[in-house]
Amino acid sequence: MTTLDVTSRSHCQVCGQKRWQDLNTLTGGIWNTSAVELERQEIDFTISQCLSCQHVQISTVYTEDIFKALYFSNTSEPDMWCNTPTGARSPYQEMVDFFEDYIQPNSNVVDFGAGAGLTLKQIEKDFPQLNLVLNSVDFHDNIQSNTINHISADLNNLSEIAQSFNSSTIDLAISTHVLEHVLSPVDFLLDIAKNLSHDGTIFIEVPDSGENATRLNLEFTNLIHGQHIHYYTLESLNAIAHKAGLNVVKYKHLITGDIPRLMVILKKSTELNSSLTTIGKHSITEVITLRFNQYNTYLLNSQKKILALLEQGHQVGLWGIGGDFHLLIKSCTKLLDAIIQEDIILYDMSLAGHTFNGKTIQPSSKLENNELIALIVPIYGPTREKMNNISQLWQTKPIDIYSQV
Ligand SMILES: [Zn+2]
Repeated sequence: MTTLDVTSRSHCQVCGQKRWQDLNTLTGGIWNTSAVELERQEIDFTISQCLSCQHVQISTVYTEDIFKALYFSNTSEPDMWCNTPTGARSPYQEMVDFFEDYIQPNSNVVDFGAGAGLTLKQIEKDFPQLNLVLNSVDFHDNIQSNTINHISADLNNLSEIAQSFNSSTIDLAISTHVLEHVLSPVDFLLDIAKNLSHDGTIFIEVPDSGENATRLNLEFTNLIHGQHIHYYTLESLNAIAHKAGLNVVKYKHLITGDIPRLMVILKKSTELNSSLTTIGKHSITEVITLRFNQYNTYLLNSQKKILALLEQGHQVGLWGIGGDFHLLIKSCTKLLDAIIQEDIILYDMSLAGHTFNGKTIQPSSKLENNELIALIVPIYGPTREKMNNISQLWQTKPIDIYSQV
């Protein structure tokens, strides 16, 4: 196992100070798959609260190496949402429901960090009569559409986008689940605001670390994630908007599956308020603590379940060899011993053929007709949903410890 050097701390990206109270440390990382034997490259992300303005962010400095490890190690993006139940509104429909009053005919609509373009495609589908101009701004053109114009840009440095909007300013800017990823949310909003038309609107959606989140099973979500540099409540988002010369004119808290969502509409304020804004007391530290407690309970419950099966003389299969697997094995040496003794066999779709401590990882398909008792290891809700679906018709269905409690 190797650990990236992350000893230095960043400045608070809201107030610029560097006085932190550390709340917890998230152990993230990736497998180095260049050799047959997997090696874990761990990255520790320290989540801290600014003692000056109360903003919560990862205070670990994001180096080029960390960005590379986080964004370019895995070609398949994990699904963000679980499947929408029949008859329910999809997350993208819910976004449009929230901001549709701000869409005017002939509007110039720009999605910053559009990704696969699902929000833009929803708008395109819902308002064919409005003659909208649709644009995506992102690192890469993942949409490849004839009707959506792509502008390549570094989302951490939007200062160069001005030339694209010289002749037609932005009427509706959209950015969903991006503001938690960028290095400086204030600069990100400032650069968008500079290119906004006089009466333009910005729609932002971020994961909600406010009070709503305390009601959820946060261990199933990726609310706390190495890619999420910033953690927001309505209070902190409001303070950040003010620093960028914007006001929150409408907001909504909602929950989809286990994902707490915060939506806001921002409008330019009449005066630029760049003076230090203190966020004040907010419930965010509670949310962070809760998630770590719930996650540790998951590790303990999984350990107990596996050890009990081994004691009963079963051979156990562990399905899904990712970050949760790494932390599970790290938390209990007995499990590593059982892998080495082949009382535990490992299965994974994409890592099959690699070895872990010299033991070959088997393809998931081998679980289909297998006598051993398998356990689904990943805890992230959409991943477990997908694995449960894949294994639905298998002879012996793997155990999902969460569907039994
Ligand atoms: Zn601060």
